[in-house]
Amino acid sequence: MILNKVFTLIVLILFFFSAFSQQKYALVIHGGAGVMSKAEMNKERQAEYKAKLEEALVKGETLLKGGASSTDVVVEVIKIMEDSPLFNAGKGAVFTRAGKNELDASIMEGKNMNAGAVAGVKDIKNPIEAAREVMENSEHVLLSGKGASEFSRRQGLETVNNKYFYTRSRYESLKRLQKQERKRAPSDNTGTVGCVALDVNGNLCAGTSTGGMTNKKFGRIGDSPIIGAGTYASNNTCAVSCTGHGEYYMRLGFAKDISALMEYKNLGVEEACLEEIRKLGELGGTGGVIALDANGNIAMEFNTSGMFRGFIKSTGEKEIAIFAHD
Ligand code: ASP
Repeated sequence: MILNKVFTLIVLILFFFSAFSQQKYALVIHGGAGVMSKAEMNKERQAEYKAKLEEALVKGETLLKGGASSTDVVVEVIKIMEDSPLFNAGKGAVFTRAGKNELDASIMEGKNMNAGAVAGVKDIKNPIEAAREVMENSEHVLLSGKGASEFSRRQGLETVNNKYFYTRSRYESLKRLQKQERKRAPSDNTGTVGCVALDVNGNLCAGTSTGGMTNKKFGRIGDSPIIGAGTYASNNTCAVSCTGHGEYYMRLGFAKDISALMEYKNLGVEEACLEEIRKLGELGGTGGVIALDANGNIAMEFNTSGMFRGFIKSTGEKEIAIFAHD
C-alpha cells in the first residue's frame, strides 16, 4: 500500500517536472549588416528577406525542439541562407576582382571549443558544411583554397561549378564598383550570414558564412573564417557571429574579445557586444554582431543603418528586423 503511494507520488513529481521544466533553447541569425534604407529597399524586397529569415528561424526552432544539437542547427540554418541568392554566402556570394566567387565559412562549438573553417573555396556548394567537416574529421582548424576543396570532395560534399554562384545583381555590383574605383566608392557586400544557437542540453555553437567583399583581390581573406575574429563560442561565455568590414574585425579579435569582456570583466552579453561595436567604430570600422549566452540572453548590435536579423526563443519571444529603427 505504502509502496503504491510512493510510486504514484514519484510518477506525479516526474510528470510535473517534465511538464513545467521547459527545455531552454535560443537561436539568433543575421543576414549581413550594411548601408540600408527604406527608400531604396521596396516593401516586396523587404518581405523577401523577412520570409527567408523566417524560414531559417522556423527550421532552426523545429530542430531545437526536437532535441537537435546546436551544431546541427547552425549548419542547417546557415545552409538555408547559403542556398538563397539574397545573401552574400553560397549562391549569392559577391565577386572577386577577377569575376569569380571565393567563399569563406567557419563554425565553433562552445562545449569543447572545437572549431573548423574554410577560406577561399570556389566550388563547394555549402561552405558551412565544409567548415564542419574540417572541425569533425580533420586534425586542422582552417583549410584554404584547392586543399579545402579537395578535402571537402573526399568527405563527400556537393561540389558545383564556380558559375553556380553567379547572380546578376552581385555581378552588376562588381562592375559598378570597378567603374567607380578611383572615387573610392563604398562596396556593397551586405549579406554575410551567421547563426548562434543554444540547444536543450545547454550547448552553444556559432557559425558564419560569406562571399567576402566585392572586388577583393590577391586571395584576400576576411574575418568570417577566422576563429576569434568573425566566429567564436564557449559555453562559459557566449557564441558570436560577426558581419562587417573584416579587416577591422580581425585587428580587434572581435568575437573572442566579446567573450573576454564577459569572462574577465563580467559584462553581460549585450553590454559586451555594445562595447566591442564601440571599439569597432573608434577604429573606423562598420558592421554588426549577433551573440547568445548559455542562459539564452541575446544581443544583435550594429553601427550601420541596418542588419538583417532575427531571433527565436523557447520562451516564445521572436523578432525579425532589418533597419536600425525597426
Ligand atoms: N565580414 C565579411 C568579410 O570581411 C563581410 C561582411 O560581413 O559583410 O569578408
